[in-house]
Amino acid sequence: MKFSELNLDSKLLSAVDEAGFEETTPIQAQTIPLVMTGDDVIGQAQTGTGKTAAFGLPILNAVDTSSSDIQALIISPTRELAIQTQEELFKLGRNKKVRVQSVYGGSDIRRQIHSLKNHPSIVVGTPGRILDHINRHTLKLHNVKTVVLDEADEMLDMGFVEDIESILTNVPHDHQTLLFSATMPKPITKIADKFMTDPEIVKIKSKELTADKIDQYFVKARDYEKFDLMTRIFDVQGPELALIFGRTKRRVDELTRGLQARGYNAEGIHGDLSQDKRTSVLRKFKAGKLDFLVATDVAARGLDISGVSHVYNYDIPQDPDSYVHRIGRTGRAGKSGISVTFVTPNEMSYLRTIENLTKKRMKPLAPPTDKEVLKGQMESVKDDIKNTLAHDTNLARFQDAADELLNEYTPEQLVMVYLSTAIKDAESVPVKIAPERPLPSRKQSHNRSGHGRRHRFNRGRRGGERNEHRGGRRDDRRNNHGRNGGNSNNSHRRNENKKPAASKKSFKIRTNI
Ligand code: ADP
Ligand code: MG
Repeated sequence: MKFSELNLDSKLLSAVDEAGFEETTPIQAQTIPLVMTGDDVIGQAQTGTGKTAAFGLPILNAVDTSSSDIQALIISPTRELAIQTQEELFKLGRNKKVRVQSVYGGSDIRRQIHSLKNHPSIVVGTPGRILDHINRHTLKLHNVKTVVLDEADEMLDMGFVEDIESILTNVPHDHQTLLFSATMPKPITKIADKFMTDPEIVKIKSKELTADKIDQYFVKARDYEKFDLMTRIFDVQGPELALIFGRTKRRVDELTRGLQARGYNAEGIHGDLSQDKRTSVLRKFKAGKLDFLVATDVAARGLDISGVSHVYNYDIPQDPDSYVHRIGRTGRAGKSGISVTFVTPNEMSYLRTIENLTKKRMKPLAPPTDKEVLKGQMESVKDDIKNTLAHDTNLARFQDAADELLNEYTPEQLVMVYLSTAIKDAESVPVKIAPERPLPSRKQSHNRSGHGRRHRFNRGRRGGERNEHRGGRRDDRRNNHGRNGGNSNNSHRRNENKKPAASKKSFKIRTNI
């Protein structure tokens, strides 16, 4: 469907055009007309299918820019998503000159209060910070016409239902409520019952839960073997842009430091990092200035990152839906992708549960042989040589030195010495990742029930993920400027090259247990 068939303001259509959108996505085609009627709408579609514009365009269309009141409130589970949504709405509303403001924790509240005085028409925010502003009387919601609960599954997971309830007591009774989500676990229906009136439900079925274009592999390994194995696989696969998932924040920190120590251009994101740090890491990754991004589920969910060639699940996710979210970050926009999931022997039942949900078998990936690793490393050495020859215009300065060496040694000898320094055995920089308790072992019989439904195992034992949730929430409620110091640690520009060239030092991981 063309956007021009949707009865939208021409200024929005021109912005849509400038954004490069040619046709509506299915969720947009089906929900935009419904939202425009003023009905409550529930929209479910996979991550990356354009849900923001699906609620954003009709909201932008309805906004009266001459009014100084906030007319729409979008509630987002995380700061990153709030920022991302604000940016998307700003882009689409720019020609109509719609003011969109975001409010989230971990950022100076006074600055936000100041910005709110510029009378935005739309506010996007995280629940804790929205409440904060309501309590300070700096966010006036008496003229809000539409409330959006975005990424509702995520908000549910993070325990935001009560906050949402409190927020809604400050919004006029007859507002329109929109709920968008990638998945629809049962409890969301309860949210819908609680907050919505006769909602229209639009559900876009994904052809398959995981894209056909993703080659899915698994590697069976013990926890302590995973790191070395993973870097060997990197050397073989040579990922262009890789996302690595760890189960806990500590895991993310350790993996990031370990990769940096081995000379990989890597950074990590999770809920404990300062907002500035997270934003800058994401910007770098999006701009292709980082090769590896290590993340927790929560930090990465819903983020709009394109061009990811490989997803590595350093820890297998406990929840099959998380798996789908994770690997869905690759194989996008017509490109193919590869995912590799590490699984310890007693976690195999989780792998099977995931396969039941995705209706696809993961292929076993054998640990790379030395020969394969060397072959991969040679590819990258060849790239380096080609690049240096093409871009280093000052090579001629070595002419005499080269002649001198060639008088003394054979070219073969020189090349071999060069290769012995250019190619490092990754394991020469020992990295030890603190052991993580594997997922609780389950009986095989539990996981054959797969009707493609959502399963939640041992909710109470979601260890790290839980911490992450709590952390995220706490961040949301407090200005955490004071905590930046703890994470602004390593000189992250230290290892720009993929291959370990400089860092020979043995490396010890600092653990904070
Ligand atoms: P979701 O919320 O469903 O995960 P987003 O709203 O974040 O997805 O959109 C994902 C990406 O797709 C964004 O970069 C957005 O600009 C882009 N996008 C949205 N709608 C379209 C469209 N109709 N055509 C092309 N790209 C689109
Ligand atoms: Mg979204």
